[in-house]
Amino acid sequence: MKRNVLIIGAGGVAHVVAHKCAQHNAALGHIHIASRTLSKCQAIIDSIHEKGRLQQAGQLTAHALDAMDIEATKFLIRATHSQIVINVGSPFLNMSVLTACLETGAAYLDTAIHEDPDKVCETPPWYANHEWKRRQACKDAGVTAVLGVGFDPGVVNAYARYALDHCFDRVDSIDIIDINAGQHGRYFATNFDPEINFREFTSTVWSWENGAWKANAMFEHRKDWDMPVTGVSTTYLTGHDELHSLSQNLGVPNIRFWMGFGEHYINVFTVLKNLGLLSERPVRTARGLEVVPLEVVKAVLPDPASLAPDYTGKTCIGDLVKGVKNGQPEEVLIYNVCDHEACYQEVGSQAISYTAGVPAVAAALLIANGTWDVGQMVNVEELDPQPFIALMNTMGIVSRIQDREGDRLLDPAPQLSNAQRPLRRAQAR
Ligand code: NDP
Repeated sequence: MKRNVLIIGAGGVAHVVAHKCAQHNAALGHIHIASRTLSKCQAIIDSIHEKGRLQQAGQLTAHALDAMDIEATKFLIRATHSQIVINVGSPFLNMSVLTACLETGAAYLDTAIHEDPDKVCETPPWYANHEWKRRQACKDAGVTAVLGVGFDPGVVNAYARYALDHCFDRVDSIDIIDINAGQHGRYFATNFDPEINFREFTSTVWSWENGAWKANAMFEHRKDWDMPVTGVSTTYLTGHDELHSLSQNLGVPNIRFWMGFGEHYINVFTVLKNLGLLSERPVRTARGLEVVPLEVVKAVLPDPASLAPDYTGKTCIGDLVKGVKNGQPEEVLIYNVCDHEACYQEVGSQAISYTAGVPAVAAALLIANGTWDVGQMVNVEELDPQPFIALMNTMGIVSRIQDREGDRLLDPAPQLSNAQRPLRRAQAR
C-alpha cells in the first residue's frame, strides 16, 4: 500500500488530476500540489472545495517548487511523506522529477515523453534517449515508474495491449486515431501547452511501418475516418510518444498515429511556422532582447485551461486494430468518447485535460493498492490493462469496443493482483 500524492504542475491536466485525487483521497491519503506559481496550486485547491468533492476530510496543500531543482523536489517528497508523484508539469521536467523519485523511493508517473528545450522531435525510439536510460536504476532501487499514462500516450497503449491479449491471434496493424470534434469559440488556441503542442508537429513524422521507422513530413498523409459519435473527420499522419514504446514492446509490424486537424488550425499553424514563429531557437530583437519565438507565441495564445467554460462537443480517441483470429481476418476498434461540457460540469476542465488526467489518477490508485506497483520502469502496454480499463470505467473514462459482434461497453474481468498477472510480453513474431 502506498499513500500520499505529490502532484507536480498546476496547469490544465494537473487541475483534473487534483480533482480526481480528491475524489479518491480515502485510498490516496494527503494530496499535495506543487508548481512554480503557488497561487495556481491554491486556485486548484479552492476549486476542489467549491465542487465539494473531497471524498473524506483530509489535507490538500499547495507548495511553490521549481521541479528542475532535484534537491528541492527530493526535500518536498520527503517532507510531505509522498509515496506517489504524479508529474503533470511541463515535459521538460521529466528527468529531474524521475531522479528525485529514484533517490527518495517514491513511485513516479507522467503523461508525456521527456523533452529537451533545444531538441525538437528526437530520433526514435525517443524514450531510449532519456527515460529508458534509467530502467536499470529503477529496477535496482525497486522504484515503480509508469511512463506516459495519460490518454495518448496512456489509455491507447492499454487498448493496444488489450487487443493483442484478448481479441487476436496475431495483430498486423494498430492505427491510433485522435479526434477532437469540440468547439472552443476562440480564433485560435491549442488544447494543451502550446509550446509542447507545436513541437509535436514542426518536424519529422515518425511512424512504424513493416517493422521499421519511416519518416514523413507533417500533413503529408491525410485520411478520413468515420468514428463513433463524432462521425467523419479528417486526420493526418503524425508522430507521437506512444509509437516510440509500442513499436519496441508489442512486436506489431505497423503502428501509426492519426491526429484530427481542421483547415483553420492547419492554415494558422502553417503561417506561424513559415514565418519562423514556431522555432525553439532564440532570436535577438532590434532592442537587443533575446527571445525564443515559440515561447512568445505561447505567451500570446489563450491558456488551454481557460478554454473550458465555453467548450462544447466531444472527443473520440481510440485504436483501430487489424489482424487474424481463428484463421479469419479480424478488425476491432476500442475507443472512448468524452464530452467537453460534462467534464466542465464535473471538475471545471475541458475534455483534453480530463482524458489525460483521469488515467494518471487511475494508475496512481492501482499503484496505491499494489496492483500496478511493479517496482520497475514500464510503459503502459507492459502492464495488465484490465484493472486499468475497469477502474477508469468507474471514474469518467468509459471504454467501448466495436467488432463483428457490434458496439458495446468494454468491461474487462475484475481486478486481479499483479502477482496473478505478470508483466506483459510482445507477441511472437
Ligand atoms: P500546462 O502548460 O497547462 O501546465 C504545465 C505546468 O507545468 C504549469 O502549471 C507550470 O507551472 C508547470 N511547470 C513548468 N515548469 C515548471 C517547473 N520548473 N517547476 C514546477 N512546475 C513547472 O500543461 P498541461 O496541463 O496542458 O499538460 C501537462 C502535461 O500533460 C504535459 O506534459 C503535456 O504534454 C501532458 N499531456 C498529456 C496528454 C496525454 O493524453 N497523454 C494530453 C495533454 C497533455 P507554473 O505555471 O507554476 O510555472
